[in-house]
Amino acid sequence: MNEKKIKQLISLTIKKLSIKVKDIKDQLPEEDRNVITYSKNFTLSLSNYCINQCGYCFYNYKIPKLNSESNVILLSNEHIVNLIQKAFQNECKEALIMSGERPGRFLEVKKELEKRKCSDFIEFVKDVSTYLLDFNILPHTNLGYLTYDEIKNLKKYNASMGLMLESTSMKLFEKGEVHEHSLGKMPKKRIEHINNAGKLKIPFTTGLLLGIGESIEDIIGDLYLIKEINDKYGHIQEVIIQNFINKQNIPYQPRKSITLEDMLKIVGFARIIFENDIAIQVPPNLIPGFEREFIDMGIDDFGGISPFTLDFINPENQWPQIEDLYKICKEKGYNLKERLPIYSKFIKKESFCPENIKKVIDNINLDDKYSVV
Ligand code: SF4
Repeated sequence: MNEKKIKQLISLTIKKLSIKVKDIKDQLPEEDRNVITYSKNFTLSLSNYCINQCGYCFYNYKIPKLNSESNVILLSNEHIVNLIQKAFQNECKEALIMSGERPGRFLEVKKELEKRKCSDFIEFVKDVSTYLLDFNILPHTNLGYLTYDEIKNLKKYNASMGLMLESTSMKLFEKGEVHEHSLGKMPKKRIEHINNAGKLKIPFTTGLLLGIGESIEDIIGDLYLIKEINDKYGHIQEVIIQNFINKQNIPYQPRKSITLEDMLKIVGFARIIFENDIAIQVPPNLIPGFEREFIDMGIDDFGGISPFTLDFINPENQWPQIEDLYKICKEKGYNLKERLPIYSKFIKKESFCPENIKKVIDNINLDDKYSVV
């Protein structure tokens, strides 16, 4: 990594960054320039069992949950059907299918899979996805690290897939740091997964988790790494810039939280590095009250927003109302538009969207209430 380039970026003030960001955004065609997107989704959290133990994690089955939420060995068929029907009634277009990493390695999960006549966890995910597609809901799967064959196996059931890069800092694996007990978070594995998704031509979402012990140099290096992978395969549709939110009952208590200014600068760095090739997403429930500042810093997307399921990673951070986001965007001169979990350019891109997924897309009407006016 070119140290001079990193130093140059770090030296930019918020004001200078916002000017550069505006110049980059102005290069977009007029119809795309003033649009911010979101996806109406819901979450199917299939199992909280996970082989890792990240210090900041609230999702892992080892952490007691809030209120009525509980840890799940394998989500019951009845629960899955209820959630999918509710999503259908709420006109959700995307199902975020998630779980801990490699839940199928646990005996408890294996037993449940046997009862449902599934040879492994991937088969179970395929069954759930088939059911979703029958309802014209597009799966977007993120199960943690998967092998090439597993990703390949899931391709025709997914409109897009995802895996957070989080951070490639090896410091995070040292004693007392957040990835000390999370071998699945080894950068080599995450990079391999993202590369494999590229080889398989899968529209992909990745992102960075900020404020877990990494340095600003690490963050910039990771943004360049994502750009490099995308330059090779052209499959990364969006990058999530996500701030760690502190919680009770978790081992990690940051010495210093990520500040609003840091977050804004990193979004600006991402725009300069990705230019307009990759969309930048910031989850609105993690930056409430500061959406306008992030719009000024050139974000493209607010990600998945659910009308009825929680953010399972940050359950205390409620999703905003779409109407409120719409008003904020309008006030800043932007249109809030609903999108699918696969970005339009990938529907048309050769080999990126399987025919069965295209057929489902043809049956979907996007909500044009929040469309360009
Ligand atoms: S891999 Fe994900 S689910 Fe597992 S402990 Fe880490 S953050 Fe939690």
